[in-house]
Amino acid sequence: MVTTILSLLLTLQNSIVSINDLIKDSHAYDQKPIVIEAEVILEVLERDDYAWINVNDGSNAIGVYLPIEMTQDLKFFGDHSHIGDIVLIEGVFYRNCDEHGGEIDIHATKLTIVKQGYKVEQEVSVWKFAIAFISFSLSLIVLLIYRNKRKDHKIEE
Ligand SMILES: [Zn+2]
Repeated sequence: MVTTILSLLLTLQNSIVSINDLIKDSHAYDQKPIVIEAEVILEVLERDDYAWINVNDGSNAIGVYLPIEMTQDLKFFGDHSHIGDIVLIEGVFYRNCDEHGGEIDIHATKLTIVKQGYKVEQEVSVWKFAIAFISFSLSLIVLLIYRNKRKDHKIEE
């Protein structure tokens, strides 16, 4: 049982194709079942019972068309302050989709969340801290210069 699941996982692992390879070899993959693993970015665009999501696997990005209920468990979408959910998408690749005006896309049949995304706190707070520190230092310098000037004036008088 365990070995069956393991070999199944390994088969799946081996068949994951990069988005860049899909685009590069689009003729070979056209209308074929494919598996990708990628980060969900931006947002869900709803189209009645279906939706579009954008995914990026680091090699490239592509639009994925899927039934809207398959997007329900998605929580995080990659942007400047979030790492999006990492998903395994099984579906069919279209290099020139008839249904969607000749777009290059994937029609998903299955979506599995492999790793949940998260908010990127660190970078933001480091920047905020740096800016706060710099403005604090500047106001301290201004204050010191101002005080020194006043002292100079007093001595002159
Ligand atoms: Zn399509």
